Amino acid sequence: MLEQLKEKVCKANLDLVEKGVVIYTWGNVSAIDRESNLVVIKPSGVNYDNMTPEDMVIVDLDGNVVEGRWSPSSDTATHLVLYKTYPQIGGVTHTHSSNAIVFAQAGLSIPALGTTHADYFYGDIPCTRELTRNEVEKDYELNTGNVIIETIAGSNVMAIPGILVKNHGPFCWGKDAAQSVYNAVVLEKVAEMAYKTLTLNPNSSMSNYILDKHYSRKHGPNAYYGQQK
Ligand SMILES: [Zn+2]
Repeated sequence: MLEQLKEKVCKANLDLVEKGVVIYTWGNVSAIDRESNLVVIKPSGVNYDNMTPEDMVIVDLDGNVVEGRWSPSSDTATHLVLYKTYPQIGGVTHTHSSNAIVFAQAGLSIPALGTTHADYFYGDIPCTRELTRNEVEKDYELNTGNVIIETIAGSNVMAIPGILVKNHGPFCWGKDAAQSVYNAVVLEKVAEMAYKTLTLNPNSSMSNYILDKHYSRKHGPNAYYGQQK
């Protein structure tokens, strides 16, 4: 079932390791098939070394396992909240990449300080509030998803395709698994750049017209970056 999607999700998970944003089992990627409303996700705690498409787990939007010999990622409920809330999202990636974590642990958004950031994220990448004791002790992963939704409510979810969960780390998304991984890799890189920039000059900033220019030349109706068809 969903063999092609299992291949794509497996490859996306392996890409995280190759791009250096995940070590051990510290990350997970999923993707949704919108026709069947089934989600393919990495198994929980399985090593990346020998991971194959057959190891991927298929769950429905309520988290019931539909196919697979492993338990799904422990973060599955967080991924499902994103798919249920935003029909535009086709893939979700979670990592513990170091520079993104630095901002998450400090409880700070990643400010848009340069055009590298602006090419992919149309503004600061927000950080959620801290989860309450209740939210952590009961339905932790579901509440992690809920605090993400609470933080980005009303915003254009595809224009800033990632967020930091306070004290935890980044969740990114995209139209499919590969794009969510891409955004997770870019998020880590812009976090590193922002961290170093703020170390050199805590008052660094970028004007909105530069942000607008760089985002809009790559995205939206008047995009002109790359080869025109
Ligand atoms: Zn995590």
